[in-house]
Amino acid sequence: MGKDLSIAIIGAGAAGCFCAINLKRMLPNANVHLFESKGKALAKVAVTGGGRCNLTNTFKGVKNLQEVYPRGEKLMRRALSVFSAEDTCTWFEKEGVRLVTQEDNCIFPQSQDAMQIVNTLLYNIKGLGIQLHLNEKVTHIDLNQWNRVVVTTGGHATPQGFSLLEGLEIPIETPVPSLFTFNVQGDWHQQLMGTVVEEVQAFIPGTKFRSHGALLLTHWGMSGPAILKLSSYAARYLAEHGYQIPICINWMGTMTELEVRQIIQDLIQQNAQKLITSVYPQCFTNKHWSILLTRMGIHLTQRWGALNTKHLNKMLTVLTADTYQITGKCPFKEEFVTCGGVSLKSININTLQSKQHPTLYFAGEVLDVDAITGGFNLQAAWSMGYVVAKHISTLNQINNQIS
Ligand SMILES: Cc1cc2nc3c(=O)[nH]c(=O)nc-3n(C[C@H](O)[C@H](O)[C@H](O)COP(=O)(O)OP(=O)(O)OC[C@H]3O[C@@H](n4cnc5c(N)ncnc54)[C@H](O)[C@@H]3O)c2cc1C
Repeated sequence: MGKDLSIAIIGAGAAGCFCAINLKRMLPNANVHLFESKGKALAKVAVTGGGRCNLTNTFKGVKNLQEVYPRGEKLMRRALSVFSAEDTCTWFEKEGVRLVTQEDNCIFPQSQDAMQIVNTLLYNIKGLGIQLHLNEKVTHIDLNQWNRVVVTTGGHATPQGFSLLEGLEIPIETPVPSLFTFNVQGDWHQQLMGTVVEEVQAFIPGTKFRSHGALLLTHWGMSGPAILKLSSYAARYLAEHGYQIPICINWMGTMTELEVRQIIQDLIQQNAQKLITSVYPQCFTNKHWSILLTRMGIHLTQRWGALNTKHLNKMLTVLTADTYQITGKCPFKEEFVTCGGVSLKSININTLQSKQHPTLYFAGEVLDVDAITGGFNLQAAWSMGYVVAKHISTLNQINNQIS
């Protein structure tokens, strides 16, 4: 079975290595060649999760896959039905990697060492006899030379990164960065550097882009899960607007204006004689509340009972739709992911096969699929790598039965 099959996998990252290993297990006689332009395989996996490798996620609480895969949600739904996050855990555990699940549903190796994941994959590559060609940058694909070619070259910051595909007429969605933090105009946030508000809603006025979660104020502006998610959801919109747009924060999380109005009215009724700086919503520190009061134009010596309607309306606006000007973006730690890549219109999303070239496959970040942080990007690489391996192996079995 699979005796004369020769398969080239281009890119020895998470998707390429996982595809090669599973393919070779399914088709032991196939000649699997894995090409890598760098001097070592899995260089990126080695630095994932700050060197700890957040390899997947429990997906608990994910109601809609689009929340975590802003691009490629449909493809991922199918890929996960073939190889799920649970399958990832089982796969690595069978290889002797113990895993731990954090409170935030992110899954890491118990060793807290990404090299354990890298070494597990490398051990399999070697043991299975996969031919790993290091320092071999592929510049051209000759589909006649191979029975199957799998492109797993990862994301690229510019369209030139996809030059390998020239001549194959594969449409590319222009790559733009995803997962970054925001520079914010002014210096108010510097005074609040390190402040975390546990649950805010961040949104871009006049668009459908909104996210919620914790927000961290930094010396350059805003970071934290709510901001990273928004940068991912609105990656293309932000790029088109040169990262210069207004952003609104609902400091009261997902509460509506009506609910917040009620909270303010209760505060007034119960604390009429108290200073406005002595009682305030629990989510704020005293310093943060004072800065917001200044933004509302309310004097810090004011008492709750003395607020007029104008003050109340201003308070409501600042609490639920506080507007700031974004002036640029900053990388999130070292982590970045690209939005864009090989257009999903050009592939069969069940098999990851090119529609124009049936012997050509794509997997991983080279496709226009990307996720928010939390282990979802690596899960996409594992799932897609597996889907391609499975399809090549199934096709081979069918061909063998026919011949
Ligand atoms: C610092 C950092 C931390 C991250 N942390 C996490 C995390 O904890 N959890 C998570 O889920 N995601 C994380 N990510 C994202 C995740 O690493 C990527 O989504 C994932 O590695 C993509 O896998 P891939 O195989 O598609 O591409 P890659 O891992 O980028 O692999 C592509 C490979 O192809 C090679 N290549 C490219 N062109 C050619 C060519 N022409 N010829 C031969 N070889 C070529 C490259 O050298 C590379 O080795 C992180 C990303 C970064 C940058």
